[in-house]
Amino acid sequence: MTAPSQTSATPRDGSPSRRGRWPLLAQRRPLVVYFCGIVALDLAAIAYLLTSTDFRLSHVAAFAALTACGAVCIEATRRLGMPAGVSRDLLSAWWLPVVLLLPPLYALLAPIPLQILLQVRVRATVVYRRVFSAAAIGVAACAASVAFHAWIPVPAELSSGRASPIVAAVACAAMFTVLNTALIAIAVRTADPDTRWREFLWNRESALLDAVELCLGVTVAIACGLNLALLVLALPPVVLLQRSLLHAQLQAAARTDPKTGLLNAAAWQREADTEIVRARRTGESLALLIVDIDHFKRVNDTYGHLVGDQVLIGVAATLRSQLRDYDVVGRFGGEEFVILLPRADVTEARRVAERLRSRVGRMAVPADHAMVTVTISAGVAIMNMHGHDLIELLAAADLALYRAKELGRDRICLPARPSAPPPRTGEEMTG
Ligand code: GH3
Ligand code: MG
Ligand code: MG
Repeated sequence: MTAPSQTSATPRDGSPSRRGRWPLLAQRRPLVVYFCGIVALDLAAIAYLLTSTDFRLSHVAAFAALTACGAVCIEATRRLGMPAGVSRDLLSAWWLPVVLLLPPLYALLAPIPLQILLQVRVRATVVYRRVFSAAAIGVAACAASVAFHAWIPVPAELSSGRASPIVAAVACAAMFTVLNTALIAIAVRTADPDTRWREFLWNRESALLDAVELCLGVTVAIACGLNLALLVLALPPVVLLQRSLLHAQLQAAARTDPKTGLLNAAAWQREADTEIVRARRTGESLALLIVDIDHFKRVNDTYGHLVGDQVLIGVAATLRSQLRDYDVVGRFGGEEFVILLPRADVTEARRVAERLRSRVGRMAVPADHAMVTVTISAGVAIMNMHGHDLIELLAAADLALYRAKELGRDRICLPARPSAPPPRTGEEMTG
């Protein structure tokens, strides 16, 4: 996991040059205090453990070998690129064995070389985020390592085949994951107090990945405890898994609008086409909505583009939260959204569109000294009533949207006239 991105538009210090040189200082004060606190805790723990750790060649060799495996993983996936935003990797497969088999000092040190490598070779991001990531992973890993060593005083027992060290390893690996997630979640909440804990802490996909990382980490640790050379056998499957994980994340990113997290226009069109073909085959009803934020330019002009972006994100989240899982929602471009409602007839489509209009109208986004509210207009088109394919439905909904704007905005409109029946095939005409 990586540290959160900046979500606050308000700089703490007005000086642009200072902000440019020290991007951390542009963050909210509680976030700066939190970041510095975690890094200080990490450095204090390193300083303390440096004086009390008994250095052994076998430990240093194991640490170097596991770090080298992590580096190989990073290099082997580097060319695939990195999706924007928070991305996941399987590097825990290498630092969990460090946590379990080596003294806690090594758990604090393990993330440092790999974060430097990520920064230099994969993606250069603001340095304070890398430093925070290394510190948060280090602190979580060190706590898990201390717990494991207190529970199982001879870590080599992990490879003895007995159940209790394996149970302890799984519990401490889970503790590492929970602590690391909690440290990052606190940073995300501090950066943006509007983020809901549940959004960040519970995500089925991410929980599944955590479980995979835990299994990999404990398995590699057991193999490593048997013989360090077994890392040669563990490395290729982990690299392959890491590559497929990255590939899946890149594919998801290619379908998504990065600002709002909704489908982008091309992906929405593909999914909408599939739904329309399905509706035609089954004879079920289907509705299409085009939603446009009213006077959005004024929001940008009055509060700036960053607040405008927050409004876009807020509207997108409100739309998504009010729709069913199988409704297809996308950002068509600018401040325009498209929604396909499978199985919705005209009454249902009107009801949904009205609900969206009223929910977005009640939404407020904080700006410097005000709460920004917006309204939306929507054009609604119904399959077989206003069009027979995606192009016709889009054209009809667009005309309806135009009417909604003309009638004064903040309203839902249907096309003035139903469409002509579909052209009959030659067979039908002669038959
Ligand atoms: P109307 O009610 O007629 O739709 O008026 P409007 O101001 O919403 O429409 P107009 O097409 O005049 O302006 C749309 C504005 O949306 C202009 C453009 O700068 C802004 N916009 C488009 N994409 C983004 C974006 O990603 N972020 C921000 N902040 N603004 C955007
Ligand atoms: Mg608009
Ligand atoms: Mg528009």
